[in-house]
Amino acid sequence: MKVGKLNPYGLEITQTIKAYNDEVRLNPQMRMVDLEKTIPGIRMDIRYATKNNFTKEVIYTEPKAFLRKPVAEALKKVQDSLAIYRLGLKIFDAYRPYAATLRFYEVYPDTNFVANPRKGSRHNRGCAVDLTLIELTSGKELSMPTPFDDFSPKANPEYKELSEPVLTNRKFLFSIMAHFGFKPISTEWWHFDYSGWADYKLMDLSFEELAAGN
Ligand SMILES: [Zn+2]
Repeated sequence: MKVGKLNPYGLEITQTIKAYNDEVRLNPQMRMVDLEKTIPGIRMDIRYATKNNFTKEVIYTEPKAFLRKPVAEALKKVQDSLAIYRLGLKIFDAYRPYAATLRFYEVYPDTNFVANPRKGSRHNRGCAVDLTLIELTSGKELSMPTPFDDFSPKANPEYKELSEPVLTNRKFLFSIMAHFGFKPISTEWWHFDYSGWADYKLMDLSFEELAAGN
C-alpha cells in the first residue's frame, strides 16, 4: 500500500477524504461512525466545541462524536448494559482531529495530560473516548473523583483518598468499560482506549469531512 505524506514529526496521518475512503474500502472496520447515529439518545457534552475546556478556546466547529465502527459498536454494548441499572453514558470527547492535538500541546505542554504530538493521541485514531456515567432519566452525572479534564493527581484511576460512593462509581465504570474492551490510562479516570487501537491510523479530517463521507 502507498505510504501517505509524513507530517513534520514523521508520523503518517490520514489527511484527505480520498485516503480515508481508500482505507475504508480496504477494511470497512476503519469507518468513522457518528455516535449519535450508532447509539440513539446518547448524551453528549462535547467540551471542545465550547469554551468550557482547558484551552478556553472553541476547538471543534461542531459538537460531534465519531469513533471507528468496532469502537462505536462496543460502546453501544456498554450503553445497553448500563440501561439495566438505569444508567447511561455521557460523552465528552471521541475522535479528535490531529490538528486539535497540536493545539492542545501548544496550550498545555505536559504530556501527562495532553498527548505528545510526536506520537499523536489515540483519540486521533478514533479509538479513545472520554466519558462519564449518568442517571438515565435525570441525566445527572454520577459523582466521580474530579470534573472532566481536571489535570490533578485526583484524576489518576489509582487515587484512593475518595469517598466510598465515588470509589464505587469509578470502579463500576472501569469494570463495565473493561468488559467491552476499553482500558483506562494512568492519568485520567474519564479516558478509555479501545483494544487494538494501534491498528487504526492517526487522522486529521474535520467532522464536516467525515460527515460528508458517511
Ligand atoms: Zn481522552
